[in-house]
Amino acid sequence: MGKSYKTEAVVLRSIRYGEADRVLHLYTPDRGRVGAVAKGVRKVKSRLGGRLEPLSRVRLVMYEGRGELSTISQADSVHSHPALRERRASLERATQACEAVLRLLDSTEPNRPAYNLLCHELALLDSSAESASRAQALAFRMKLLLAAGFAPELASCAACGETEHLGAFSPSAGGVVCAGCEAGSFPLGEEAHRFLVGALARPLAEAPPAPDTALSQADRAIAETLEYHAHVRLRRVT
Ligand SMILES: [Zn+2]
Repeated sequence: MGKSYKTEAVVLRSIRYGEADRVLHLYTPDRGRVGAVAKGVRKVKSRLGGRLEPLSRVRLVMYEGRGELSTISQADSVHSHPALRERRASLERATQACEAVLRLLDSTEPNRPAYNLLCHELALLDSSAESASRAQALAFRMKLLLAAGFAPELASCAACGETEHLGAFSPSAGGVVCAGCEAGSFPLGEEAHRFLVGALARPLAEAPPAPDTALSQADRAIAETLEYHAHVRLRRVT
């Protein structure tokens, strides 16, 4: 057995492996993405199994393996988010949040703000049914962009620095653009612009409200920024 270590983690995904095992994709505060085998967890009497469901926040003892996978030897629950599992909308939002982290943060480089953000999002979705809104999901995604280093420029034209007439968004320029720099952009109305700014500025629990058309534009701005700069394609937030 390799060296043992302790870490907290959120279980992003769990895949069947062999007869009774599972391979888990974990996101940790100090080791970034970690892959781990949980042995025997699909047996009925497994002590580990119930605590290692996707969307759970856990405290783990693991052994480093020879390959890329660690082996889990002990798991304690920090927060299993039981309430969000009972509500379909909350469950879908939580799954989307984990999926976004899985796709966007795939390295072993630690990113504590991203870890904290994910924990906060899951706790929020667990605590109230109202947080499973489209605006809230987009605010999470916007904050995740910031944590991952892909936040778009919103204060001035990303191409020339102009601070007025910012009515469009250019994924390639990396943010809002003015009327003179509109090539390769799409319209981003005032409400959508305000939403993106507010989503970054306000706490996660206070996502700014916005009409659906504005949220669609904000969604597109976030999605195309990720596609262009991170080469990651996420399911749209509807
Ligand atoms: Zn410009």
